[in-house]
Amino acid sequence: MEFSFTESQRIFRESLRDFLEREIQPLVEPQERRGPMSREEALDILRRFGKVGIGFDLDSMRELASDPVTVGIMVEEAFRVWPSAAILVGLSFPAALVYLGSEDMRERLLDRVRKNEVIGCYAITEPEAGSDNRAMRTTAVLEGDHYVVNGTKTWISNAPVADLCLLVAKDQEGKRVFLLVEREVSQYQCGELHKLGWRAAPTGEIYFDQCKVPRENELNAMISGTLNDPERLRELGFDPGKAKDLSSSRFMAMAGRLGLENVIFAFLRSCMALAAAGISQAALDASLSYARERVQFGRPIGKFQLVQEMLYRMAALTETSRLLGYRALWAVANGDPKARYYSSLAKGYACDAAVRVTYDAIQIHGGVGLSDEYPLERYFRDARMLTIPDGTSEIQKLIVGRELLGEGFSAYA
Ligand SMILES: Cc1cc2nc3c(=O)[nH]c(=O)nc-3n(C[C@H](O)[C@H](O)[C@H](O)COP(=O)(O)OP(=O)(O)OC[C@H]3O[C@@H](n4cnc5c(N)ncnc54)[C@H](O)[C@@H]3O)c2cc1C
Repeated sequence: MEFSFTESQRIFRESLRDFLEREIQPLVEPQERRGPMSREEALDILRRFGKVGIGFDLDSMRELASDPVTVGIMVEEAFRVWPSAAILVGLSFPAALVYLGSEDMRERLLDRVRKNEVIGCYAITEPEAGSDNRAMRTTAVLEGDHYVVNGTKTWISNAPVADLCLLVAKDQEGKRVFLLVEREVSQYQCGELHKLGWRAAPTGEIYFDQCKVPRENELNAMISGTLNDPERLRELGFDPGKAKDLSSSRFMAMAGRLGLENVIFAFLRSCMALAAAGISQAALDASLSYARERVQFGRPIGKFQLVQEMLYRMAALTETSRLLGYRALWAVANGDPKARYYSSLAKGYACDAAVRVTYDAIQIHGGVGLSDEYPLERYFRDARMLTIPDGTSEIQKLIVGRELLGEGFSAYA
C-alpha cells in the first residue's frame, strides 16, 4: 500500500494548483455573484482547462485514463477552488463519445472536441423519476433510421449551455437506451434552474418533443461499431489486434456485471467523494489561518480547546473522505468487484462530511463566516449541494446495505 503521490502526480498537482490560483481563482466570486455562466463564459472556462491538459482531446484523455489518482487530484483540486467550474468540465464528459460517433458527427464536432469547445451533459433524472429512475417516462421509439424522443429531463447540469446530451430513455420495448443527442441536429428546448450553491454552474430542464435522433447515435451501436473497425481503432491509438484484450479486461467485466449506467454512477460517485474532500480542505485551510490570526480574550482563538476540537473533527472528516474517495476511484478504474460498494460508501460519507466541515468552518469564523465578503458561506452552500445529485446520501446507504448483506437485501427491489 502506497500513501504518497509519485513524483509525476506531485508535479501535476503543483502545476494544477498554480493554474487554478492564477487563471481560475480571479473569476470565481464575480461569476458566482452573476449566476449561471453563459455559453461563451462556459466555453472560456473549458478552453482554459484544456490548455493545462484537462479536456477531451486524445492526449489529455489518455494521460488521465492511465492513472486514476491523477483524475482524483484533478477533481479534488478543482473543487477546492471552484465547484461550479469543476462541474462544467466534468459533466462535459459526453464530448469524449464523439470519437465513437458517425462520420457525420465526427466531421461536425471532432475539431471542436479536440480544442475543448464542446459542452456535454448527462440526462437521466425526470420530474417523476429522481432516486427511482426506473420510473422514467421519457421514450425513444425507433422509427426507421432514427429514434423519436419524447419526455422531460430535469436538474441536468450543463443542459442550458450544452452541445451534446447523453440521454437515458426507454425504447419501444421498455428497455434502457442511451442516445448521444446533438442539439444542433436533434433540436430540443431547455429551461434554466436556480439553486442554493454551485450558482455559476448552469443547470436546467430539457424538453424533448418529437425530437429525432439518428439511429447511429445509440451508444452500444457506437461502441461496437468502433471496436469492429480496425481503422477507427488505430486512429484512436488502440492496436486493433488487442481490441479483444480491451473487451475482456476487468473493467469491461465490471461494466457487464453492473451495467453501463451503474459504472457511470460508480465513477461519478467516486469523483463526488473527492469533490467533497476538496471543498472540505478549502474550509479547513481557511479555518486554520483564521484560528491562528483572530485574537479574542487576549489570545488567538486557535488556543481555545473548543476551537481545536472543531479543527480535529474537520481534519478527521476531510482525511477520511479523501482516503475513501481514492479507494473508490481505484476500485472503479481497476474493475474491482466491490467498486459499487466503495463508490457509494465514499460518496455517502464524504458529502455528508463536507456539510459538517463547512458548518464548523463558519462557526470558527464567527460573524465573518456568514458574510458574503468571505468564501465560507459559499463553501457551505456548495457542500450542501453534494448530498443530492448522483444518488442522495440515503440512496448511498441503501446501496452499501445491499452490497454488505448480499442478494435479496435490496431496500427498493
Ligand atoms: C445541483 C444538481 C445537479 C444535478 N445534476 C444532474 C445531472 O447532471 N443529470 C441528472 O440526470 N440528474 C442530475 N441531478 C438530479 C439528481 O440526481 C436527483 O436530484 C437525485 O437523484 C434525487 O432525486 P430527487 O431530487 O427527485 O429526489 P427524490 O428521489 O424525490 O428524493 C427525495 C427524498 O426522499 C429520499 N428517498 C427517496 N427514495 C428513498 C428510499 N428508497 N429510501 C429512503 N429515502 C429515499 C431521498 O434520499 C430524498 O431525501 C442533479 C441534481 C442537483 C440538485
